[in-house]
Amino acid sequence: MAELPSAQQILEQLKLIAGPYAKFALAGRKKYVDLRLRQDQAVRSIYIRAADKVAKEIRRLKRLGAGSQMNIRYLTAVSESLRENGVGEALTDLLTGDIVKAVDAGSTYSMEVTLSHISKTKLAKKPVKRAFFRANNQAVEACWARTERGLHLSDRIWDKDEKYRKAMTEIIQDGVATGEDPVETARQLEKYVRRGKKTLAVDYPEMMDRIGNRVPQDISYEALRLVRTETAAAFGEGTIAAASVSPSYKGMKWVLSGSHPVPDICDDLANADHGLGKGVWPPGQEPPMPAHPNCLCVLISVHEDTDDFMKRLNEWTKNPQSHPDLEDWYTNVYSEVA
Ligand SMILES: [Zn+2]
Repeated sequence: MAELPSAQQILEQLKLIAGPYAKFALAGRKKYVDLRLRQDQAVRSIYIRAADKVAKEIRRLKRLGAGSQMNIRYLTAVSESLRENGVGEALTDLLTGDIVKAVDAGSTYSMEVTLSHISKTKLAKKPVKRAFFRANNQAVEACWARTERGLHLSDRIWDKDEKYRKAMTEIIQDGVATGEDPVETARQLEKYVRRGKKTLAVDYPEMMDRIGNRVPQDISYEALRLVRTETAAAFGEGTIAAASVSPSYKGMKWVLSGSHPVPDICDDLANADHGLGKGVWPPGQEPPMPAHPNCLCVLISVHEDTDDFMKRLNEWTKNPQSHPDLEDWYTNVYSEVA
């Protein structure tokens, strides 16, 4: 399997682990991959839209007679526009939606497996769906409450906004310092968010000599990395939260992405031996995703063998004392009032 591209390799592994429930594992995986594939363009677009508004404002000011060279009047007016047209709000909106979707993708497998089990009994499905709905909501909250080096997710988003405004201001200030044609400054802003510092340096080598070390190569990259990391984390949160309300849940398997040429922490996670099978972590000890930035490994819950579980479930319906773990699930998860 080593020759397979990493995406294909993960699918093969998921199918193997999920067995008769492979289609549910693949459905969850598809939701997650579709989400990740949209993100590069979505993040880039946020920066382009914001910068274009500022560029437009500069051109408008020139038409209104603010001067044929960049000056302090432009700087003052554009600072205002930059404050209003940052990237923080749009990034927050994007992540708000994507975290919900990633949690849902992560929860898909456990929920479908459990609903499939329950459909073979006389138990109503509705309380099960409600339990997963609750678990998902808690997972979404956990994503926003998570801190990294003391910073909440919202702080980390607004940190990207600040960096964006700083880089834009550098270009604008350079235009003012050199008395640049405002149309040219507007063009620089548009080019910078689309093609990065290197491209800008080809057209404007002197400007880049002056400010090059103060603006990042790709202004949207850090935000994209943040969005990717948080989406992976949300997928993991959703996977763990849903598994924990699934009565057949036995442990969480770390599935290694094929794109790991050099052994790293992911290999340790995927090879851990807790007596539940290779890389399967006991409930309550699940490792959080992602293990590192841009990590493509995923978690998938491991469930009791269907025949064994259905047998236990039937025994329990006749005698609740026969399986205390199921009775416990029934009392604390199934019957729990929202
Ligand atoms: Zn990894």
